[in-house]
Amino acid sequence: MDLGLTGRVAVVSAASKGLGRATALALAAEGAKVVLNARDATALDQVAKQIPDALVVPGDITDPGLPARLVQTAVERWGRVDVVVANAGGPPTGRALDITDEQILAAVNANMLASVRLARAAVPHMRQQQWGRIVFVASASVKQPIPDLALSNISRTALWAWTKTAAQDLAEHGVTVNLAAPGLHATDRLLERGVTGRTGDPADFGQAVAFLCSQQANFINGTVLGVDGGAVVGLL
Ligand code: NAP
Repeated sequence: MDLGLTGRVAVVSAASKGLGRATALALAAEGAKVVLNARDATALDQVAKQIPDALVVPGDITDPGLPARLVQTAVERWGRVDVVVANAGGPPTGRALDITDEQILAAVNANMLASVRLARAAVPHMRQQQWGRIVFVASASVKQPIPDLALSNISRTALWAWTKTAAQDLAEHGVTVNLAAPGLHATDRLLERGVTGRTGDPADFGQAVAFLCSQQANFINGTVLGVDGGAVVGLL
C-alpha cells in the first residue's frame, strides 16, 4: 500500500536508536524527507547515512527551544513540515510514593511538554497547508499503569489528555494528532531495564507509526494506537 508520504517532510525527535530510529527509517522508506534529532551526534549520523537527504539536529529535546529549531530546520530546507513524530527518552523507574517533585517535573518536561512544544511549533505550518500528522510516542502505560514506572504513567497520561483535547481543534484543518502506545520492544532501553519476555520488533512499530502518518489515516484522530502484542488487558 502506498501511504502517500512521498515528498512529505517529517521531523522525528529522539531518533538515533530504538523506536524513534525505526520510525524515521519507516517514514524514509515511504519516501518522506526527514529531520532527525537526538543528543549523540555520532549515533545520529549513523542513522542519517541510511536516509537520503536526511538532516540532523543534535540536541536535548527537553531544552525548551529545541522543538521549534527542529521545525525551523525542516521549513528552511524544504519549505514545509507535514509530519511530526515526538519521541523522547523514557523516565527512570520509581513507584508512585517514592518519586520526588523534581522527578515529576523532569518527566513532565521530557515526556509531555517536549512533545507539546514540537506539535505547537509545527501546527501553524500544518494549518496553512491544511494537512498534517502528529504522532506522540508514549507507552502502553497510558492504558495500563506500570507499578514501577510511575513517572512514565503520569507524564504520558497528561500528554494523552492534551492529545485528545487538541485533536478537536485540529480536525477542521486536516491535521490529526494521535498517540502510539508501545508495549515491550527489543530496544536498548528495554535491555537496560533488564526486562524479559515477549517483545516486539522496533521496525514493526515504525511501520505502525508510519501508517498513522499516512494519507489513509486521515480520519484517525485523537486516538491511542496500542502496539503491544495484546499485552494490555482491558476493554477500553
Ligand atoms: P532507546 O532505545 O533507549 O532510544 C532512546 C532514543 O532517544 C535514543 O535515540 C536517544 O539518543 C534519544 N534520547 C534520549 N533522551 C533524549 C533527549 N533528552 N533528547 C533527545 N533525544 C533523546 O529507547 P526506546 O526503547 O526506543 O524508547 C523510546 C520511548 O518509548 C521512550 O520514551 C520509552 O520510555 C518509550 N517506550 C519504550 C518501550 C520499549 O519497550 N522499548 C515501551 C514503552 C515505551 P541520545 O541518547 O543520543 O539522545
